[in-house]
Amino acid sequence: MHTAPNSLALIGNTPLVLLKGPSEAAGAEIYGKCEFANPGASVKDRAALSIIEDAEARGLIAPGGTIVEGTAGNTGIGLALVANAKGYRTIIVMPETQSREKMDTLRALGAELVLVPAAPYSNPGHFVHTSRRIAEETPNAIWANQFDNIANRRAHITGTAPEIWEQMDGRIDGFTCAAGTGGTLAGVGLALKERDPNVTIALSDPHGAALYEYYANGELKSEGASVAEGIGQGRITANLEGAPIDTQFRISDAEGYEWVRRLLDEEGICVGLSSGINVAGAVRLARELGAGSRVATILCDTGFRYLSTLYNPEWLEAKGLAPLREAAAA
Ligand code: PMP
Repeated sequence: MHTAPNSLALIGNTPLVLLKGPSEAAGAEIYGKCEFANPGASVKDRAALSIIEDAEARGLIAPGGTIVEGTAGNTGIGLALVANAKGYRTIIVMPETQSREKMDTLRALGAELVLVPAAPYSNPGHFVHTSRRIAEETPNAIWANQFDNIANRRAHITGTAPEIWEQMDGRIDGFTCAAGTGGTLAGVGLALKERDPNVTIALSDPHGAALYEYYANGELKSEGASVAEGIGQGRITANLEGAPIDTQFRISDAEGYEWVRRLLDEEGICVGLSSGINVAGAVRLARELGAGSRVATILCDTGFRYLSTLYNPEWLEAKGLAPLREAAAA
């Protein structure tokens, strides 16, 4: 046991856990990187710290300055925590479709919250464009721009990937996760390939995202829809450029949700739907790679962030997903 010099040093160095049910289902070893163990309870703390420290190093932000960002919520929570620790303000723009818990958390952390209607990226009212405009209009402010600021994926090149490599003793056959900004997928993918070009990197794409078709057929095209928060990308962000994707899976909400439920009921791990989609992808990848293969994925955030949605029977019913307990008893 050791002490941390400050709160920011608590970001990263998360545990890697062997997932029993997924490993048995695939006849392989499937490991989950416990990103819910970060101070803001998601993988996005890493990107938030990296983006702010990059802006500081480049002299873009002065003491007392403001960080503005458009986010599904987790990046905002990470930015607000890091900003508080460093003496900055935060303005967070979020689609109003995201979970109540994320909004309450952001307000509790002292972020100024701006809610906008969900809109396509081509619409000027989209949360990303709104956040850029607010940053431009606010004195002494920076726009974090997580989608196209590659300080985001650098956090995974220098942090997440080397940690996974070390935790698996350099014996890893595959890695997969979904993409929001793509920072995690591309960053971990690039850094693992550099260590071992034989590691298979797979995209696990939710319905409603365009990347599956892009990596399969070179065409950005989406199909269906997903209720998963924080994932599902429709374009090649700067963070995704050059991502070494070998194969891709399209994962339904029902398939991802089944793993959310099983991880909680069988292993006591409470995560959000993007983690379930990642685990479903890891099971598929491990089956392709063969018996005994070793695959890692990301447990992106805590399920406590979705008590009003994913863990709420009425919400589940409205979305056509079987409630957790009933599903467990069936
Ligand atoms: N899962 C959740 C819950 C998220 O909030 C995010 C970030 N938007 C991701 C997965 C995807 O991470 P990335 O932005 O690195 O692609």
